[in-house]
Amino acid sequence: MQYVSTRGQAPALNFEETMLTGLARDGGLYVPETVPQMSRENIAALAGLSFEEAAFRIMRPFVGDSFGDSEFGDIITRAYQGFAHEARAPLVQLGANHFLLELFHGPTLAFKDFAMQLIGQLFQAALARRGERVTIVGATSGDTGSAAIEAFRGLDAVDVVILFPHGRVSEVQRRQMTTPDESNVHAFALHGDFDDCQARLKDMFNDFAFRDAVRLAGVNSINWARVLAQVVYYFTSAVSLGAPHRPVSFTVPTGNFGDIFAGYIARKMGLPIEKLVLATNQNDILYRALQSGEYATRRVRPSISPSMDIQVSSNFERVLFDVYDREGNAVAQLMDELKTNGRFAISQGALDRLRGIFETGRASEDETRATIADIYRRTGEVLCPHSAVAVKVAQEHLGAVPMITLATAHPAKFPDAVRDACGQAPELPPHMAGLFEKRERVTEVDNDLGALEALIRERIA
Ligand SMILES: *Cc1c(COP(=O)(O)O)cnc(C)c1O
Repeated sequence: MQYVSTRGQAPALNFEETMLTGLARDGGLYVPETVPQMSRENIAALAGLSFEEAAFRIMRPFVGDSFGDSEFGDIITRAYQGFAHEARAPLVQLGANHFLLELFHGPTLAFKDFAMQLIGQLFQAALARRGERVTIVGATSGDTGSAAIEAFRGLDAVDVVILFPHGRVSEVQRRQMTTPDESNVHAFALHGDFDDCQARLKDMFNDFAFRDAVRLAGVNSINWARVLAQVVYYFTSAVSLGAPHRPVSFTVPTGNFGDIFAGYIARKMGLPIEKLVLATNQNDILYRALQSGEYATRRVRPSISPSMDIQVSSNFERVLFDVYDREGNAVAQLMDELKTNGRFAISQGALDRLRGIFETGRASEDETRATIADIYRRTGEVLCPHSAVAVKVAQEHLGAVPMITLATAHPAKFPDAVRDACGQAPELPPHMAGLFEKRERVTEVDNDLGALEALIRERIA
């Protein structure tokens, strides 16, 4: 099983190397050379399995010989044992043909735990075997950072450095990043927005001297292993609603295009997904791109769904690679154009192919609040603002095929916005009690590559 870069110039790698490398050295993202297929029989056979058993069957072909069967099985078991729900990703019904996939029962209450808990175990196993140490640097709009810290805190073989936009994450999100007291955890508040954090992260990866000196590794959703972990719940939820005999559609609250790209991979593997509906908040670059064919960045406007406040959706490059017939040069050209002009035009052929798979919609701040209130009134379910964006858009795309909307965070992560909207103040689960009393540890840093690199060298010395 080999992985190739979307820009066509970096060497092909196996699963373990791809995971430890993160961003390809030509600036591209790694994707599987060919996507393994699940036959109808294999999909049907997932019915009734535990989440972990299903996860093993779905992910195993992508891992190749990087991990043995029993080692990989144990890794999956350890990854999900800290989840608070037996089903890991339970489905609840919202309406006649509309279901909510609750992805927020992991240790940091967001879907990021599905991938990060697995990646933590995979990194630990691989690094222990190699006798190596790495510096994991992640940029976060809020939830990736806490999920990464939770997965890597206290591990011997890693330092974990998280960049978050100063003043732009919720208090619960910030405290989850700043209160762990393990010495291998470093939370940096960067003066800028999420796109600045992500841009500096990419700059560090492209500074090869620095990258090699600190043995930089990435766990942002550019890391293939994260995408892979997220493929699993598309299968488990679809199968519980009758796949492969009955198709389903999904609506996904989208920022960096990582989660919905996992749905795209599930579809490529053979899962009968009729439509993937891409939902955005007021930071709607992907909505506009699918509507108009022009991918054009604007300034980020902070919203009540901060984990989707993104204008450069890294993983979109992965789907562009496919709809441009896997021509690395064409993708590299588009990305150069984006860097110089802040925009590029998607060719008509590529756009037609995208529209054959993805539909799209967006929700304003008022619509998001109204949806939280309306769903609470009609079903008793309290949605987080990100999930509410998706539910609003899903309701505009309901049809004959069951719709599964992804609920990506627990409402207690965003108590102010949720209370404003529906009058209910969601409570943190018991394992997070005490979050507001703990001492915070955080370093403010300017939006400057040199300063950041110096700080990281000092911290890990
Ligand atoms: C990260 C995140 C998203 C967006 O997911 P992408 O993979 O970046 O598209 C949506 N909702 C929540 C709660 C998140 O943490």
